[in-house]
Amino acid sequence: MKKKYLIIGAGFSGTVLANQLMSKLDCTIDIWDERDHIGGNCHTKRDEQTGIMVHEYGPHIFNTDKKEIWDFVNSIAEFKPYVHRVKAMSDGKIYSLPVNLHTINQLFGKSFTPLQAKEFLETLADTSITDPQNFEEQALRFIGKELYYAFFYGYTKKQWGCEPTELPASILKRIPVRFNYDDNYHNNIYTGIPVDGYTALIEKLIDNKNIHVSLNKKFNPADDVSSYDHVFYTGPIDAYFSFKYGRLGYRTVTFEKHYADGDHQGVTQMNYCNAEVPYTRITEPKHFTYWEQHDKTVYFKEFSKETGPSDIPYYPKRLANDKELLLQYRSDATLLHKVSFLGRLATYRYMDMHNVIGEALNFSNLFMYAATNGGTLPVFPNEEN
Ligand code: UDP
Repeated sequence: MKKKYLIIGAGFSGTVLANQLMSKLDCTIDIWDERDHIGGNCHTKRDEQTGIMVHEYGPHIFNTDKKEIWDFVNSIAEFKPYVHRVKAMSDGKIYSLPVNLHTINQLFGKSFTPLQAKEFLETLADTSITDPQNFEEQALRFIGKELYYAFFYGYTKKQWGCEPTELPASILKRIPVRFNYDDNYHNNIYTGIPVDGYTALIEKLIDNKNIHVSLNKKFNPADDVSSYDHVFYTGPIDAYFSFKYGRLGYRTVTFEKHYADGDHQGVTQMNYCNAEVPYTRITEPKHFTYWEQHDKTVYFKEFSKETGPSDIPYYPKRLANDKELLLQYRSDATLLHKVSFLGRLATYRYMDMHNVIGEALNFSNLFMYAATNGGTLPVFPNEEN
């Protein structure tokens, strides 16, 4: 008999999972999403005035080192090569990001070679910090206070709404420091942008007569889902348990839309690193699709704030208190039957798209193996952390 599955959330986690289950098991799948579109925070849509493909929830650049994940997304939709080159405004001057030889030479007014820059930075680094415990210590240890205050302190305070000493060092480790002129924001081998946007890609993942999507349908923990053989939940884990231990901390982002003729800033992303500028960055999506022609442009100022009950959660804060709550929710989750938790919101982690997709692929294999061999069905894709 056909199995009947319910997936909560039509972002990358839920739709990759649906795609895999459908391709290998005899099943029907219902997907519910509370928004009026699929794609979660990767949703893209053409702007009505300009025709430009807009990343509705902020810029998403696909990048990975894993050939199998690159091959997987390319087997679903066409990608064009795209290298993300970010500029930073600091004290009224424009610099190259991530910190590279050009940035160091610009900020210090030097003409260092790679070796000279490396030696110079070593003289600035705070070597009394042997084991950096937080974002600020990580920065002071490896790049010194000049670069830290020029590019990271103000931006991070705006982005996260707290002192960088309260944040994990791992957030800073996302961004490379280079002693050459490579200004590719990402370190990955494969990087690109889907020609028709992410939503078109996600539509293809779930294009099957046995997958039925219900939009504007919010999951309520009290819903009777007993007719399903298994439920896969990709929403916020605290919401699944009606916030009974309290809310996990997230930052949310709001966007201020502007139009202009031609080209507004000459680049997809400009970061505003001073705390006094109220927004964190301006993104101009026409620079993603360099193969298209548009006379007008649309750009977005991004503002970061604490997530209220009706806001969309973006960045998990993962402060010490959040991690304690997470453990309580995870422990309750393991007591449930026939429910699994998957993705950025259900595991409460800062994840890139390629991690989300890779984890959904692995998880679907684990699940299918257990389901067909009578093993224990996995609850989470990751260990507690
Ligand atoms: N960051 C910063 N200055 C910048 C860019 C990034 O201080 O100009 C810090 C900030 O704390 C941010 C983190 O580095 O949250 C990670 O940056 P990334 O660009 O990876 O963030 P995302 O694009 O995911 O928002």
